[in-house]
Amino acid sequence: MFAEVIVDIKTAQVDKVFDYEVSDDIKVGHRVLVPFGNRFIEGYVIGLKNKSDYPIDKIKKVSKKLDIEPLILPEMLKLSDYMIKNNHLKRVDTLRLFLPSGIRKEKIKPLVKEIVFVKEFNKDEIKKAIRANSKKQLEMLEYIKVGETYLKSELNKMFGSLAVEKFVTLGVFDIDEKRVLRNPQTLKKEDKTVELNSLQKEILEKIKEPATHLIFGVTGSGKTEIYMHSIKRCLDEGKNAIMLVPEIGLTPQVVSLFKARFGNTVAILHSGLSMGERFDEWQRIFSGEAKIVVGARSAIFAPLKNIGVIIIDEEHDDSYKSESNPRFYTHDIAKFRAKYNNCPLVLGSATPNIDTFYRAKKGEYRLHELLKRANNKDMPNVELIDMRQEMMAGNNSLFSRRLQSDLTDCIKAGNQAMIFCNRRGFASYMICKECGWTAKCEDCDATIVYHKEDNLLKCHFCSRRYKAITKCPECGSVYIKMGTIGTQRVAEEIRKLFPMVKVLRMDFDTTQNKSSHAQILEEFSNTKPCILVGTQMIAKGHDFPNVTLVGIVDADMSLHYSDYRSAERTFDLLTQVAGRAGRADKTGKIDLQTYMPKHYVYRFMANYDYKSFFDREINVREVSKFPPFAYIIRVLFSGENLEDVQLATAHAHNDFNNLCEDNKDVLYCKAMKSPVSKIQNRHRYQILLRLTNFGFTNIINDVYNICDKYQKQGINVFVEINPNNLS
Ligand code: ADP
Ligand code: ZN
Ligand code: ZN
Repeated sequence: MFAEVIVDIKTAQVDKVFDYEVSDDIKVGHRVLVPFGNRFIEGYVIGLKNKSDYPIDKIKKVSKKLDIEPLILPEMLKLSDYMIKNNHLKRVDTLRLFLPSGIRKEKIKPLVKEIVFVKEFNKDEIKKAIRANSKKQLEMLEYIKVGETYLKSELNKMFGSLAVEKFVTLGVFDIDEKRVLRNPQTLKKEDKTVELNSLQKEILEKIKEPATHLIFGVTGSGKTEIYMHSIKRCLDEGKNAIMLVPEIGLTPQVVSLFKARFGNTVAILHSGLSMGERFDEWQRIFSGEAKIVVGARSAIFAPLKNIGVIIIDEEHDDSYKSESNPRFYTHDIAKFRAKYNNCPLVLGSATPNIDTFYRAKKGEYRLHELLKRANNKDMPNVELIDMRQEMMAGNNSLFSRRLQSDLTDCIKAGNQAMIFCNRRGFASYMICKECGWTAKCEDCDATIVYHKEDNLLKCHFCSRRYKAITKCPECGSVYIKMGTIGTQRVAEEIRKLFPMVKVLRMDFDTTQNKSSHAQILEEFSNTKPCILVGTQMIAKGHDFPNVTLVGIVDADMSLHYSDYRSAERTFDLLTQVAGRAGRADKTGKIDLQTYMPKHYVYRFMANYDYKSFFDREINVREVSKFPPFAYIIRVLFSGENLEDVQLATAHAHNDFNNLCEDNKDVLYCKAMKSPVSKIQNRHRYQILLRLTNFGFTNIINDVYNICDKYQKQGINVFVEINPNNLS
């Protein structure tokens, strides 16, 4: 018998299949150790056959199988084929996605601890055998119970290892080894199962169909309850479920909610886990002990068999698209697995991705709507606050008079407030404080971004440059504002205004510690009054009943990102943030500060009118030929040597130009320095292609092939389709 083996090393030349001779006990999907060159490396068996085309005397033998069972399921091998074809990935990169990293090269081993079993004993005899002055041993004698087991390390800690050893010699303890699981920590939460209302029940019934469904429902409309009921239904039918949530923010709360309702059948997979925790959770899924997988993007690769439903909550979230190798879009993988398992895929959002809603409207997905909050409360009122008027009235602080007085009221009433400030990335824009004019690229209708290092404004889309301005070309004002406001400064200013009130801050910087995220949320939920200042981390998923006010300090910030999705992203983000207020009995309010109160994003957002926003947005995209009516391809070149990167980009651009010549389906093809031109000492250049949908299907493989040509030592070439951002 011969096995087709993929060896686990990361060089382009070896992403091919090697034949090895095997014994009968090796199956497809097994991890094996094979001789390769003059060493031994790990590999994956992806096929078995009776004959090999290689000369028989050249074929080596597999030296060892590494696991009892094949760890790569037949479904995942099919998925691997799909991803190679669809995402142009290397086989080995896909296979690695399917296993916890700790498993390779045995970096992580099952955690085994010594346990102590307490046998029958005669207390008086033992007392006699212990010398009277051995206080610790007497204490332990009182503590232990016959028939119980204890962790030896715990007993050592409590009573000392001498005492424990003594009890072993006395025949009281039997020592054994046992595998213990590294369980990720979660918040404690009480579960309250609610009965679904009739609308929820109707949707629950409809999403049984094995198809792609979109539940479009305002925040608080009871989507999560529907997810949980459909998962319960799966379990009752003996099936399993995957539930995906965005990487940031949502995880601790949602996870604890699921743990409270479903207990140990829930496994968690997200990037915050230690390698050991991930390894153990993966094993629990593989063995079938865990039946529900809750996790971020990569949990879509969980080794779960017999899937009854796949759910993607907040499906519009950017984190569902991987921004580094290996590239994939979670929705595509979810569709593949749903089809393979003949089960429904359920997408949910209050602000669906424009592409998703477009497909739902066309009938490609089934659309289900929840237009009201589950508790029938109105959505909180959104007040648009014109910051130009604040300035004219002499208020130069970060906070409008309205926000300050609303904060005062909120605190007086003993409630909680959230202050949102989206300091993200590097970009700062230029805006006229008097008329709201912003600097835009003449070619792209995209906001241009100020670059401090060379004092220029640059278009991130076509890289055209503009001189920095000191005077507004629209109204002549010299009050040109620049730069971003960070959460740190906002928190400081709030503390000055309300010195007696607890102010917490949650952003990338304050959540570097593994548990700090959960701690901040825990403290916030236990403190009244309290103000939580944060970035988009506070925007998602949290359900705090005492939050009555949400302040949005600088709403315009995300509108100024210069790509075609900035309006969509802003609408999503603000709607999410607004959804944090007034979720329970208390009425909520949103104070949204802007220099452009007439902007259509704010108008629609303030009315929670996603559909009108969608209609306008889809129109713009159709006219200007942007996704879903076209594809954007970004090819990113990076490397330490600037000249090499520039050269590779120029040559590839030349190849692309030849490819695109006279092709009407190519709308755009330009090479440029990336907006973030250097990351960790690697220079970055990029080529942007925009193609009609027809053109995309026709030439994407040629694009990949050109890129492969320039991928070599020292140069990394990364292709993204409709990237989240172009930085
Ligand atoms: P979403 O996921 O759409 O934001 P949730 O499922 O989290 O909404 O529901 C919001 C709140 O409403 C939660 O506190 C939830 O317990 C409650 N809720 C959901 N469905 C019902 C229902 N049928 N009856 C009463 N309360 C409900
Ligand atoms: Zn102006
Ligand atoms: Zn431009």
